Amino acid sequence: MARSQFDNSPVSTNSSRTGVPPSLPTAMCNLETEGIKYGCGHYVATRTVNKIDCMRPTCTKSVRHPSNCRSSECAIYYGPARSETITHRTNEFCEHCDYWFKGSRVR
Ligand SMILES: [Zn+2]
Ligand SMILES: [Zn+2]
Ligand SMILES: [Zn+2]
Repeated sequence: MARSQFDNSPVSTNSSRTGVPPSLPTAMCNLETEGIKYGCGHYVATRTVNKIDCMRPTCTKSVRHPSNCRSSECAIYYGPARSETITHRTNEFCEHCDYWFKGSRVR
């Protein structure tokens, strides 16, 4: 009765991570916003109250960024909003959820 040994070699996961390289600083421009809190739980910004500049030349949102720069390495997105001031509350769903809600009903 010969038992074949199980091959316990670790499975090599081939998941290539697509994200921000760890060498880059995570500081980004942030916004302070005012917005609407929807019944679905989402907050949708309607107005920018203040912009917090990260002062990085590699961030397209920063005033330090050269306007003639065409580099794809530069950050093009704002970081998460620094503050969210709810100016209005509604029981309705936000535009995105309303779309899916209606889409699931109409068949
Ligand atoms: Zn920035
Ligand atoms: Zn740039
Ligand atoms: Zn929503």
